[in-house]
Amino acid sequence: MDKKRILTGDRPTGKLHLGHYVGTLANRVRLQDKYNCFFIIADLHVLTTKTGKKEIGQINKNVRHLILDYLSVGIDPKKSVIYRQSRVPEVAYLSLLFSMLVTVPRCQRVPTLKEVMHDLKITKPSLGLLTYPVLQAADILMVKAHLVPVGKDQESHIELTREIAHKFNEMYGRVFPEPKTLIGEVPTLPGLDGKAKMSKSLGNCIYLSDSEKEVKEKVMGMYTDPTRIHSTDPGHIKGNPVFIYHNAFNQDKEEVEELKKHYQAGEVGDVEVKERLAKAINVFLDPIRFRRAKFEKEKNLVEKILEKGNQKARQEAQKTLGEVKEKMGLE
Ligand code: ATP
Ligand code: MG
Repeated sequence: MDKKRILTGDRPTGKLHLGHYVGTLANRVRLQDKYNCFFIIADLHVLTTKTGKKEIGQINKNVRHLILDYLSVGIDPKKSVIYRQSRVPEVAYLSLLFSMLVTVPRCQRVPTLKEVMHDLKITKPSLGLLTYPVLQAADILMVKAHLVPVGKDQESHIELTREIAHKFNEMYGRVFPEPKTLIGEVPTLPGLDGKAKMSKSLGNCIYLSDSEKEVKEKVMGMYTDPTRIHSTDPGHIKGNPVFIYHNAFNQDKEEVEELKKHYQAGEVGDVEVKERLAKAINVFLDPIRFRRAKFEKEKNLVEKILEKGNQKARQEAQKTLGEVKEKMGLE
């Protein structure tokens, strides 16, 4: 029997960061052999928040960054399909068909809509932004994915995908699985500034491609326990991003436990806790940097990966769309 399928991906709006790693990349790498994986570079989704020509002009460069990020964390293009959304135009057709199955108030209730509008100071959302999760449902269902490894912020989108799959199957006959969400070990990694989410748009990130020096500088400037004025004050661990990062990236668990104990007792300063965190993150990032340096040197690597991936994804898309039209009686 064929393996089950995964679809997940990223918007090419910048480089990948530590939040992506714990939210979804680690699961992608871990499940590569068990599932047939499709990793989408969602360039059409970029347009939901960035429509200017200059911003669109950044997409190609960001696609390259994303693929190098994928390869350097261990995603293997021989095992998994990596493709660019806009090169599979069938998805727009499927999205249009799906948009007839979803009400406007249902889309308005998706919590990320309010979050994005708030973060980017958008007062009136475009139709495209409102239907962001409908296009995403088309991406996921186009390849008939069973599992979608994403960060917590995306959970509500996959819920809508399931509703669409269910409704379609009920109305026209079964075509789609109802995909499950797989949230990463850290559901939402907070930002360096203490904001709830590390996010490209908020500029509060440690990127997988940051240098040792950049990591050190960023960590030393991190938001920590604001109630702590002197290093002899007892510190708070809960909700403190410095310790959330220690938990997520410091492989020396004993050191982390010791630091927590001393921090809560007012026996260690923030500077030391941060210095050790910077060191731990650099240990974590070193093999990723090493692989990136190797892949960066390979000529036309990105182009070759996309050429193959786009073709494979498009085949799947055409097959699914054919089935959809047939079931709906549109043929
Ligand atoms: P943008 O600001 O452009 O939306 P982003 O940093 O939110 O960028 P996305 O491309 O929207 O990144 O997200 C890609 C994937 O990474 C999604 O599955 C998302 O849930 C996950 N993800 C992003 N940021 C985090 C985070 N801080 N913690 C956990 N998962 C995250
Ligand atoms: Mg996002």
